[in-house]
Amino acid sequence: MDLGLTGRWALVCAASKGLGRGCAEALVGEGVNVVITARGEADLLAATTALRAVNPAVEVRTVVGDIATDAGRQAALAACPQVDILINNAGGPPPGDFRDWGREQWLAALEANMLTPIELIKATVDGMAARGFGRIVNITSGAVKAPIDMLGLSNGARSGLTGFVAGVARQPRLAAANVTINNLLPGAFDTDRLRKTMAAGAAKAGQPVDEIAARRRATIPAQRFGTAAEFGAICAMLCSAQAGYLTGQNILLDGGSYPGTF
Ligand code: NAP
Repeated sequence: MDLGLTGRWALVCAASKGLGRGCAEALVGEGVNVVITARGEADLLAATTALRAVNPAVEVRTVVGDIATDAGRQAALAACPQVDILINNAGGPPPGDFRDWGREQWLAALEANMLTPIELIKATVDGMAARGFGRIVNITSGAVKAPIDMLGLSNGARSGLTGFVAGVARQPRLAAANVTINNLLPGAFDTDRLRKTMAAGAAKAGQPVDEIAARRRATIPAQRFGTAAEFGAICAMLCSAQAGYLTGQNILLDGGSYPGTF
């Protein structure tokens, strides 16, 4: 199916690796010009080369910077001629026990995983509405639906974003103007983040990482971790011209892990 996106511009935040990069690759494959961001320059340049190989016909621009800062957001926005598609993403907060977290840790999590996407939505959404097309996808987490005790900073900050999005996506001035805002909720995806988390768990438990990974896979009905490519494909589908009636939703991509009926 042609997703009707050729020639659009997307700002894909935190996209040198993992899920953000998967989204950028899928969009580039659909003929979308992209601005990708990350803090580390080397990985960002490697991602750019890979993206250009996927589709040499599109423009790929890079912005090195921390998207959780005002300067990082302004630079990212300035590099994108017009934001038709916004993929909000940033690194997730560290795991731990809430008794050890102070105001500083909470503010960092809120900044990266709640306030940054809200600021970028605010900066782009009215322009999208004026042009009659806009697609915003926020990468959140399955932990929004089924909280993970160790990830309290993530549970809290992302739930705040989810509540905000639930309201704003339903504003008629956006929904009626073909601007959609949805959240994609990853379960376990085979990315650096997952590998690092499992390596830390293995070191703590004194067990081989392969065993930890096998046990984790066995808890997933699909019996495997997701791939960034399949995450990106669903993201591109949400951004498609055809998806204009799909807004304000939280879409779990978790291989069947969430045990509820709804
Ligand atoms: P990843 O493989 O570690 O990749 C993270 C990407 O984001 C890298 O390109 C990183 O580059 C960039 N990044 C991180 N913080 C940034 C910042 N402040 N500003 C700009 N770029 C930033 O992580 P991932 O697995 O793709 O995860 C993406 C998001 O999904 C995270 O919020 C994670 O918590 C969430 N999530 C992931 C899973 C999973 O199984 N993978 C499950 C649930 C939720 P630099 O480090 O160079 O900046």
